[in-house]
Amino acid sequence: MRIQYVLTSALLVAAAAAQAPPRKDHSLGYDDTPFLPDGKWRVHDVSRPRPKVITPGAENSQPPSDAIVLFDGSDLSRWETYLKGKLVETKWKVENGYMEVVPATGSIQTKDKFGDIQLHVEWATPAEVKGNSQSRGNSGILLMSRYEIQVLDSYDNPTYADGQAAAIYGQVPPPVNASRKPGEWQTYDIVFEAPAFDGDKLVKPAYVTVFQNGVLMHNRQVIIGRTPHAKLGTYEAHAPEEPLQLQNHGSPVRFRNIWIRRLK
Ligand code: MG
Repeated sequence: MRIQYVLTSALLVAAAAAQAPPRKDHSLGYDDTPFLPDGKWRVHDVSRPRPKVITPGAENSQPPSDAIVLFDGSDLSRWETYLKGKLVETKWKVENGYMEVVPATGSIQTKDKFGDIQLHVEWATPAEVKGNSQSRGNSGILLMSRYEIQVLDSYDNPTYADGQAAAIYGQVPPPVNASRKPGEWQTYDIVFEAPAFDGDKLVKPAYVTVFQNGVLMHNRQVIIGRTPHAKLGTYEAHAPEEPLQLQNHGSPVRFRNIWIRRLK
């Protein structure tokens, strides 16, 4: 009796399944869901291209496989120095896996040019504290050779807020001071969107997102122009890609593990 009941139930289920239209397999996506506002893709669109697989670094600070490594601790082959517009020998020191600013030898810049980027930089201000305010461990990350994210020893070192470490120099201070002690390695992770120009006219300002030591400092913050000292920065039209520059401000600041990804 029990076996007969089970068999009958199984036959009924099989018959129902045979009559029902075949179930769509949605395990990899849908082709019948509503379109997203861009009108291009449906919600969970099965034909939407899947992001390219890349290999992340073993640690978060290590370069992923699609990064351009600008400095891996061994040499400055991807960097060059211009003094008064003339290409000269790069004289920054490379030792023990880091590079170090040599005062009075000029800033250095990448041989490659970049527009929209993700950038990772590690830096350390001198362990031996000299000077104060802006003369203490000053350097900088000059995006497109123009827009400075300040590098400074901001550990117990009062200075103007828009000139301390992680400031968009002369424009926007960081919301908090997450600086490590002099001599300790610190990280910047930066996302930068280049400005756009139509002839001489600015059509889109630059935006920057900055993490210092993993702490959010700027979230897609608009940059109002160049970042000069004691002047209001404005935009002057430039190419869509420009070199990345590391500033020589006369302090022996160190850098290591610098990598960059083009975002478009
Ligand atoms: Mg600076």
